[in-house]
Amino acid sequence: MDTIHITMPDGAIREVPLGTTAAEIAQQISPRLAKEALVARIAPIHGQAAAAASAAAEAAPEKSPDAAPEARMTSAANGEGFLVDLRAPIDQDVELSILTPKDPEAIQVLRHSAAHLLAAAVLELFPNVKLGIGPPIDTGFFYDFVRDEPFTPEDLERIEKKMRELAAQDIPNERKMLPKPEALELYRKWEQGFKCELVEERAIEPMVSFYTTGRFIDFCRGPHIPSTGRIRAFKLMSVAGAYWKGQEGNPQMQRIYGACFYTQQELDEYLHRLEEAKRRDHRRLGQELDLFSVQEEAGPGLIFWHPKGGLVRKIMEDWLRDELLRRGYDLVYTPHIMRLELWKTSGHANFYRENMFGPVEVEKDDYQLKPMNCPGHILIYKSRLRSYRELPVRLAELGTVYRYERSGVLHGLLRVRGFTQDDAHIFCMPEQIEAEIEACIDFAFAVMKTFGFSQYVVELSDWDAKHPENYPGSPEDWAHSTSALERTLNRLGIPFKRMEGEGAFYGPKIDFKLIDAIGRLWQLTTVQFDFNLPGRFGLEYVGEDGNRHQPLMVHRALWGSVERFFGILIEHYAGAFPVWLAPVQAEVLPLSEKFAEYGKKVAAALKDAGFRAHLDDRNEKLQAKIRDAQLLKIPYMLIVGGKEAEAGTVSVRQQSKGDLGPRPLADFLSDLRKQVDSRAV
Ligand SMILES: [Zn+2]
Ligand SMILES: [Zn+2]
Repeated sequence: MDTIHITMPDGAIREVPLGTTAAEIAQQISPRLAKEALVARIAPIHGQAAAAASAAAEAAPEKSPDAAPEARMTSAANGEGFLVDLRAPIDQDVELSILTPKDPEAIQVLRHSAAHLLAAAVLELFPNVKLGIGPPIDTGFFYDFVRDEPFTPEDLERIEKKMRELAAQDIPNERKMLPKPEALELYRKWEQGFKCELVEERAIEPMVSFYTTGRFIDFCRGPHIPSTGRIRAFKLMSVAGAYWKGQEGNPQMQRIYGACFYTQQELDEYLHRLEEAKRRDHRRLGQELDLFSVQEEAGPGLIFWHPKGGLVRKIMEDWLRDELLRRGYDLVYTPHIMRLELWKTSGHANFYRENMFGPVEVEKDDYQLKPMNCPGHILIYKSRLRSYRELPVRLAELGTVYRYERSGVLHGLLRVRGFTQDDAHIFCMPEQIEAEIEACIDFAFAVMKTFGFSQYVVELSDWDAKHPENYPGSPEDWAHSTSALERTLNRLGIPFKRMEGEGAFYGPKIDFKLIDAIGRLWQLTTVQFDFNLPGRFGLEYVGEDGNRHQPLMVHRALWGSVERFFGILIEHYAGAFPVWLAPVQAEVLPLSEKFAEYGKKVAAALKDAGFRAHLDDRNEKLQAKIRDAQLLKIPYMLIVGGKEAEAGTVSVRQQSKGDLGPRPLADFLSDLRKQVDSRAV
């Protein structure tokens, strides 16, 4: 066979000589495409998969530690098949897609090549470093090195400069195949012990794939972009410690992180987002605005709510409790510590043990600090026989739970050891379930709207149907409940992503992820079926037929936890809460001590009207007082002097907009009332 057939994404078939490369085909199509092409995706045409193309065979000769996982060999145009170098000869009939910066997956190839460029630059400057691995990551790449001295910020600058030099030289990324013993010999001579280890462990074929970029030689499956010239928009970001293979106890390495995008504009936008995220960091703002703290003396992951944070929490909780009652929930409270036996019945003592604090012995009986509220609510449900007439029973609790999280993963308010869930459990009959899910979703939307989020992503997670043995509940239970979730989302016209196999082990679920002011995703609301607990606790209700039935059970949390949601709000608003949530809504600033009396009167009028006001009667210059109120992100500053005292006005300054001029006090109060009552964001 001297020719092969290449099927392009538009269905056109090209007949080309055996061994033609994707680069050559791109050139035939248009010089522009050839210039833009980064990498190719091929899928052997069905029935010929066995006659492996050399490109295909070379594409996956070993499990490279830093390459993308293999894809199935079907349609290249549908993102299936596998990626190969543009220069790889094709020697069988394939479907071919030539990927350019328009294809999202090509960016990972560019970033992987950037990691190689980094290693090449480091080797130029520090020839004695030992090499670890260097994969692409979400926003760029990293490479791990062992070197006696730490890399300094100045080193990073030099390395980045060297990377730019090597990029400008447009050095080809060349692929070579070596027999395994030769590969080992090469690295042994070069004294690259970590690489030897990788070749030993991961090269499963007799021939080993290498890529070279200048003096850098990597055991790597690839693919890579043809040469370094296309790596333009990158920046070295930081150095961090990392263990070889990520395992504590293994040799310590220095991991150099870089950001990498196609264009300088994309890189700049990313760097700007990073800056913004830093500016909004809730841990920093929590301290600056005196909202909360974590006290080493008390232990990590445990939150102290300071007066101002506590006030915001009270306002959040008041809103939530009112909504819960309005929406037909009952509010309950359950103990923080309950017999360990109960957690054995629920199964938590078994499958959730790693996340629980150890039991406490009381009068020779073990008690367990609660990691979840569900069993408590179940005991309330079970406290008497329920009739179908009472269903649905919706039990809600701002329930504080304690979970053991490793200290390494704790993070401000977002990942903690003690937190209060806005938890609820719904017990209902099968015919009620869709209305209940719909009500949960409606509640979730109310939360988003009230707290100022307009963008979100919804995921529907199902079980892994290939392993029904891992799940309680029958296939019918799963099918019914998943389709109930799906139908409800469809009826409400909510777009969602199906996540096969991502459900909780006890039932399918819907997750809402919020998108915040700077485009970050935050997992928030979750609505989950449970086929496990009702059976374990023998839950029942007496049906209309007089027989006993098992109710359906749904767990749902809207905020997730008060702590976490508060952290998200701080970052979303960069600490500048909308007026209805702000711990201090207006700061009264007398021009000088002479006007302190009028200032007092204004502050008192605000407080009488039910607002949270504060009088800054320090003997400071007005400018200093304004600056401080600005730093505390207080929504309104009311400046009062002689003119204002005489006319009964206040000069209004808004945190976000600056001076708004003088206004009669009564007008300001009625405006503020409107803003607070409408929870304007
Ligand atoms: Zn590599
Ligand atoms: Zn629960």
